[in-house]
Amino acid sequence: MICERICPDYRVKSIFDISPKWLKRNGFTKIVVDLDNTLLPTDKTVVGPRAMTWIRQMHQGGINVALISNNAGDRVKKITKQTQLPIIMRAMKPLPQAYKEIEKAFGGGKILFIGDQLFTDILGAKRRGHTTVWVQSLGGKEHWMTNITRKLESYYIDKLIAKGMMPKERTL
Ligand SMILES: [Mg+2]
Repeated sequence: MICERICPDYRVKSIFDISPKWLKRNGFTKIVVDLDNTLLPTDKTVVGPRAMTWIRQMHQGGINVALISNNAGDRVKKITKQTQLPIIMRAMKPLPQAYKEIEKAFGGGKILFIGDQLFTDILGAKRRGHTTVWVQSLGGKEHWMTNITRKLESYYIDKLIAKGMMPKERTL
């Protein structure tokens, strides 16, 4: 059922509620973070100092971090340069290709996927059997197509909540 496919395993307010300690304790040393409205707002071109610190803390805690985005172009390149993180651009989430590439690059093992959209980030990762964390969107202006899927998303969020399937927001 679609509900199972788009239901995140965990739900947090923002990436800052995910700690290296929790990841390690749960066997995750590899995480993949969505770019737009997860790591930084869509209308920003620079990753904020708090997010940069979070990335550094992940590395210090022995966590490998990679980025994923359905976008490409100068803005994404700039962010890649700033963060110095490996990235899959034009990922075409939720299609499986990008996930297969990431699995190969990471050499297998458990990978945690973090993102703000149920129909791309969560669906794509869950279809490949990965654990997912859903974050609240940072609220930057979105593509017109995202605006459409957001409407569908909010319908399913209500459904997931009504079925008692939506995890409660917490810190990890
Ligand atoms: Mg996003």
